[in-house]
Amino acid sequence: MDVVRRVRAMKEACAAARAEGKTVGFVPTMGALHDGHLSLVRRVRAQADLTVVSIFVNPTQFGSSEDFARYPRDLVHDADVLAREGVDILFAPEADEMYPPGEATFVEVAGLSDKLEGRSRPGHFRGVATVVTKLFEIVAPHVAAFGQKDAQQVLIIKTLARDLMMDVEVLVLPTKREEDGLAMSSRNVLLTPDERRAARAIPRALEAVRTALEAGEREPGKLLAAGKAILVEAPLLRIDYVELVDPDKLDPVAKVQGAMLLVVAVFAGSTRLIDNVVLRS
Ligand code: AMP
Repeated sequence: MDVVRRVRAMKEACAAARAEGKTVGFVPTMGALHDGHLSLVRRVRAQADLTVVSIFVNPTQFGSSEDFARYPRDLVHDADVLAREGVDILFAPEADEMYPPGEATFVEVAGLSDKLEGRSRPGHFRGVATVVTKLFEIVAPHVAAFGQKDAQQVLIIKTLARDLMMDVEVLVLPTKREEDGLAMSSRNVLLTPDERRAARAIPRALEAVRTALEAGEREPGKLLAAGKAILVEAPLLRIDYVELVDPDKLDPVAKVQGAMLLVVAVFAGSTRLIDNVVLRS
């Protein structure tokens, strides 16, 4: 596996593969890799001739009071894992390589970016959309994989790829979970043992809403109450939001109908965790 640190070298490697008629598959990550990331890597590797993974903890998607400095980083271990997965190129640029001094261009996906995560993390999706646009420009992938775990992010990326007329197939892959149901996340290593135990309530809350729906509850407020009750009981958890939204626009549903996205964001101590499931009535 080649480890590439420079934008120019990365562009050349991908352009050369394309010129040889190879398809390029891409998985952008922030590292501290877990099985969720690897499920994306395996899926892309099965489809593409050249598999590229990026590891870049993107400063512009973290707010000033957020956990950029604390975000877990282990490039040596991650590189080892990716090499064993058969990844061809690891792209791991420094921040000033991705954001050279004086840069003035940002990408903003209007509307979607202000809801849910965007409401709690102003500017977050501007940072995500900007870095993904840059990475797509550098790698020019035929196919790129993202996780349903970050449901809003994936909608925003699909929208920007469509609006900017990018020739990339965006794959969305299911959320990988720990044995007790907690969605895998790089941030899980930041949890204390007590917080980790409490976080178990997140998938239980999602399940409680599903159970209430299956039992015939049709009022969104009451469905959400079934989930919130479990989160409120859990020690060390603080709810940021629990919402039932339509899966395309992310607006709260007025009535239970068709496919709906149940989204949760909580703080476990100072670590923010998100999760979601698609529910069908
Ligand atoms: P991150 O490193 O957290 O930015 O995530 C990189 C990619 O992995 C994103 O597309 C995430 O949605 C995806 N991802 C993160 N956690 C999971 C998970 N538990 N299951 C599946 N995909 C995930």
